[in-house]
Amino acid sequence: MVDLLEHEGKRIFRKYGIPVPVFRVIRSEKEVPDFNEKMVIKAQVPTGGRGKKGGVKIVNNREEAIRAIQEIRQIDFNGYRARRFILEKAYDIKKELYVSITLDRSVELPVLLASAEGGVDINSVPAEKILKKPINPFIGVTDYMKREAAAFLGLDGENAKTLGKIISGLYRIYDELDASLAEINPLALTSEGLVALDSKISIEDDALFRHPDVPVRYFGMDKIEVEAKKKGLSFVRLEGDIGIIANGAGLNMATIDLIAQAGGKPANFFDLGGTDDPQKVIQAIELASKVTNKVLFVNIFGGVTRCDTVANGIVQAIKQLNPKFKLVVRIRGANEEEGRRILNENGIDSILNLDEAVRRVVELAGE
Ligand code: GDP
Ligand code: MN
Repeated sequence: MVDLLEHEGKRIFRKYGIPVPVFRVIRSEKEVPDFNEKMVIKAQVPTGGRGKKGGVKIVNNREEAIRAIQEIRQIDFNGYRARRFILEKAYDIKKELYVSITLDRSVELPVLLASAEGGVDINSVPAEKILKKPINPFIGVTDYMKREAAAFLGLDGENAKTLGKIISGLYRIYDELDASLAEINPLALTSEGLVALDSKISIEDDALFRHPDVPVRYFGMDKIEVEAKKKGLSFVRLEGDIGIIANGAGLNMATIDLIAQAGGKPANFFDLGGTDDPQKVIQAIELASKVTNKVLFVNIFGGVTRCDTVANGIVQAIKQLNPKFKLVVRIRGANEEEGRRILNENGIDSILNLDEAVRRVVELAGE
């Protein structure tokens, strides 16, 4: 899941017709302009509850803003530190509301959630104070749903109309960006009407390839894992020094277990998946070469992924990359004879027996 920062979410809100304050993103104290009115400084971190922790401060001029930024920098937000800040107009809030569209797995549908008890963690609001309306994805949000939400929140006239636009915008964001959550908390009722003072948009990982402009930041994640993720590869970094490429999660885990049992330390989990493209194999070996310079164990059970494809990929990768690690290959299954012949012709041995291959791998790692 990628959680967008508040300012990224607010830009998307604006694009989808949801009213947001005019804001500026500040990276360093130097960027704070001169001003003389009530403004808000807000920490940009991918986690909620900033208000309670002191990450939202009202300021009246440049000096106060700079002091606020310096204070906020010291705050630990669930393991995150703020490096960016929003500076925006401070509204006089009459009422804080809550509205979101999210996926409700229990009904297997998107739902519209609305509550007049906004500004607090929605999980702490009692169920009877939350309006919850499942949305038929073939129809989308309907006008009567918007009217019901307005009535539930006690809004009428212009505010009810704006709420309708906000709900449509949130649903379009949910739908078009493959979001699992598009949330406004608080949606503030001000003398200037409704304004989204906060944004929370979470995008499904598996849909990221459809949204190249979504800023992907995997906070605290291993760099190589991030690289793999961007390439759509299923890779998990472990602590050892033996690289592994196998196909299927099951074979990966079995391979990791066997190596550990034999006294070796696996460096990663890497599911090559089903492919008939040697280029994928090259990409995989390139990534593996970043986690080990000792030994790489390629353990493939050929099916959709044919052994000759894997063999061709391995041969090309070794030629192109000239990696430092030693290679142990075990390929069985579809086209294994052809695969082994290709490896053999290129001076790469393969081992048929799994126990023997694992012993060899651990032995090489120990050298
Ligand atoms: P969160 O705590 O991480 O969800 O951060 P929010 O952006 O929701 O801000 C927390 C609280 O700060 C809000 O519920 C508001 O009460 C307050 N706040 C945020 N922006 C403004 C503003 O422009 N004016 C005023 N008066 N309060 C604000
Ligand atoms: Mn909030």
